Amino acid sequence: MSYQFECPREDCTFELRCDRDQEAAKLARAHARLSHRGRIPPADLERWLERVEAA
Ligand SMILES: [Zn+2]
Repeated sequence: MSYQFECPREDCTFELRCDRDQEAAKLARAHARLSHRGRIPPADLERWLERVEAA
């Protein structure tokens, strides 16, 4: 099981995939902070984190 995050910003193509949800959430938050100077509300983060089957 792995987790995928796609940045919801229209002008941003950032995405990541990670084996652990906590790691993915951490990286997603770091991306928002560094790239958009913003924070992701926990509820939104949970919605944007997509659980995907490992290929
Ligand atoms: Zn982004």
